[in-house]
Amino acid sequence: MEWELQSWQSSCAECGREFADREEYYSALYSHDEGFERKDCCISCWGQGQRDAFSFWRARTKKAPEPPRRFVNDDVLIEFFDRLAGATDARRQRLAFIMAVLLLRKRLLRETGRRRNDNKVLWILHCRSLDKEYEIADQGLAAGETAELMQEIGQVLNLSLDGVGDRLCR
Ligand SMILES: [Zn+2]
Repeated sequence: MEWELQSWQSSCAECGREFADREEYYSALYSHDEGFERKDCCISCWGQGQRDAFSFWRARTKKAPEPPRRFVNDDVLIEFFDRLAGATDARRQRLAFIMAVLLLRKRLLRETGRRRNDNKVLWILHCRSLDKEYEIADQGLAAGETAELMQEIGQVLNLSLDGVGDRLCR
């Protein structure tokens, strides 16, 4: 699976300046009622954004002649999952489940067991890099819901999620 970021807006969301090659900048996710919004921001504009962000990371544009591409590294994905895993609202719990599937595929999480809790199946997952255990409820998602959530995650993190849905659809 490709985790490379596809072309994203290649300018600062605040000042509108085009990023140079190999320029460092910040990417941040902001949580709204309607979903997550992603903004890329140059170093000098970064400030207020940090306090308001749900999650953020530092990145660097890639060298020309290819169009600038931005990467999300494994730590970013784990941190995003870690934040979602503690969520109590249903929408974020569904996103946490989808992130869990992505991280399992990437072997950043390992499934150590499953258990039942009321009418839910909980996946017991271990993250080696954080040495942390998670229990994520299997959301039993329909294909349509899965596609919608995958699209949301794909957009905010700008990931190519081809094939990931196969495992979620049943
Ligand atoms: Zn700027």
